[in-house]
Amino acid sequence: MIVVLTGAPGAGKGTQASKLSERCGHRKVSTGDALRRQVKLGTPIGQKAGALMAKGELVPDDVLFEVLREELGPGKKGEVILLDGYPRKISQAETLETLRESHPVGGAIQLEVPREELIARLSGRRVCEDCGATYHLVNSPPKNGTHCDACNSEKLIQRSDDNPESVAYRLDVYEQNTRPILDFYKKSGCYTEVDGSKGTEEVFQQLEAEIKRIQKA
Ligand code: AMP
Repeated sequence: MIVVLTGAPGAGKGTQASKLSERCGHRKVSTGDALRRQVKLGTPIGQKAGALMAKGELVPDDVLFEVLREELGPGKKGEVILLDGYPRKISQAETLETLRESHPVGGAIQLEVPREELIARLSGRRVCEDCGATYHLVNSPPKNGTHCDACNSEKLIQRSDDNPESVAYRLDVYEQNTRPILDFYKKSGCYTEVDGSKGTEEVFQQLEAEIKRIQKA
């Protein structure tokens, strides 16, 4: 079963999906992470996606569908897949429905965070180039200052799309294209909202409880 984590860039979907994966054993699938891997490897998909991603543009649906199908795999009974970054528009939500035999969507949880907070989070975000762990220069810097806590790499970089122009653009793209999918899930009766501006642990606990409720439904 899929649980869609929705929310604007910087809302904490990736951080929370990683925590839920570590602590509850759910599987995280992030289309953004998958695309960044393809860009790093220089694959044909990566070559199509790289420039669009740096500007904060959405990558075309057909490319995304290919990435998504590969990442989801055949689907195992009882498995919960936390989907981070997909769907980002109505057409993608409809496409996801075509996979419902193997991957039914059990719920969609929106992490709601005010725009000013999103801008502050994204502009201070740093990512480990080697293992993907994320930090914030002010709110959650690495413990030893310059090295990744998880893998000790010193390659803590700013994502190419976390510059001010791309951040503003991505938030606009979110409002125009992605926010409408919330109505799609409200209509299908599987939508809930969590206040993503609270502390990481509090948000985690609310998400964990929501996912348990979805599993029982
Ligand atoms: P994320 O890490 O989820 O913020 O995604 C980073 C970038 O990857 C986005 O700004 C898009 O360029 C691209 N991307 C990720 N997921 C999708 C998607 N579902 N549809 C289109 N583009 C996507």
